[in-house]
Amino acid sequence: MELSEKIKILAESAKYDVSCSSSGSSRNNTPGGIGNAAEAGICHTWSADGRCISLLKILMSNDCQYDCAYCNNRRSNDFPRASFTPSELAELTIAFYRRNYIEGLFLSSAIEEHPDRTMEKMNEVLRLLRDHHRFNGYIHIKGIPGSNPRLIHEAGLLADRISVNIELPSEESLRLLAPQKKKENILLPMRQIHQQSLQFRQEKRKFPSTPDFAPAGQSTQLMIGASPESDRQILRLSQGLYNRFALKRVYYSAYVPVNTHSRLPLPLSPPPQLREHRLYQADWLLRFYGFHAEELLQPEAPDLDLHIDPKCMWALRNPGSFPVEVNRASLQVLLRVPGIGPVSARRIVTARKSGPLHYDDLKRAGVVLKRARYFLTCQGRYEGGRDFQPDRIHHLLRREHQIETSRYRGQQMTMEDWKGGFRP
Ligand code: SF4
Repeated sequence: MELSEKIKILAESAKYDVSCSSSGSSRNNTPGGIGNAAEAGICHTWSADGRCISLLKILMSNDCQYDCAYCNNRRSNDFPRASFTPSELAELTIAFYRRNYIEGLFLSSAIEEHPDRTMEKMNEVLRLLRDHHRFNGYIHIKGIPGSNPRLIHEAGLLADRISVNIELPSEESLRLLAPQKKKENILLPMRQIHQQSLQFRQEKRKFPSTPDFAPAGQSTQLMIGASPESDRQILRLSQGLYNRFALKRVYYSAYVPVNTHSRLPLPLSPPPQLREHRLYQADWLLRFYGFHAEELLQPEAPDLDLHIDPKCMWALRNPGSFPVEVNRASLQVLLRVPGIGPVSARRIVTARKSGPLHYDDLKRAGVVLKRARYFLTCQGRYEGGRDFQPDRIHHLLRREHQIETSRYRGQQMTMEDWKGGFRP
């Protein structure tokens, strides 16, 4: 098969993996080498389907021995299969890099023969890139569940980031939709990556020549909407992963029905795209705002509100905590006010040392007053309407969301606007 044909097939097969955004590595080029992995990360661009394509994002092979119900590459699908040799893929990466098409590599693979064989081939690509081509650019590799810990160790020494995908958010769904995958085969490499990252970092403090082990950390991907788990279950799982394995990111990927065989226990339509977006927002609250999954969502209301963002949703479900007086509230309390982010919260705390703040000061501090005004008072003054009424505020925020969505859709859909030099 021609190389160009392989590229077409294997790049197409990789597009459903969204866990490819890259950042967190800081490594300059070495004399005689090429590429660097700068801390600011690699510039991203987006394909027509909204996926990140800044890296060469490709599969080693799509010839899978497994039969996961939701996956295009499943063994029982009848469609073109292809596999790269390690040297083909290494040379392709270098050729694309030299032409300035890419700045790094995101390498994943179907399970070709056995997890070990697959991981060995992927590691061989990395060895060729790092040792033979002296490539210093960013590399994100997929850890193949079930592969030997020695191979995961080797991958960690060669790549910047490793991700082991969980895909399905519960063991029951895994059993039903991906029976060849085992929960422990996914968690084991995650634990190993976490422990070895810590160990290498500690050793590096004592012995600076210690090599890096997955310096950009590890991530995973969860598929949303292929199975019945609630947002609460999904966020609790993410929280557990952040706590136990110090994951850099959990990526959420809305299920795309690629296999429409009626015998498969899968929904026929994808979940609303907005659900993925709301999960990312809630995930942000877990990582940077000190929220816990259990306080965001309760068993009796286990899903995020699609019409308002998760922070507003939480605030309206906890009316006793609002409105907050900005001139007195602690940093932690300010962080829970919709429209106030970590930067603006810190600015408020610093600025009010010089005297009480006014609404104009909040604007200058970067507070999004359009939302925040419903949830705070400033020197006792409330600017969110008559008084704090959750139902009314929910209605207003929901209407704002609808206006914004329809305005956005209008911009996206009206070609005449673009042709005529439309400005939002
Ligand atoms: S292991 Fe499952 S999800 Fe991964 S490529 Fe094979 S069929 Fe697809």
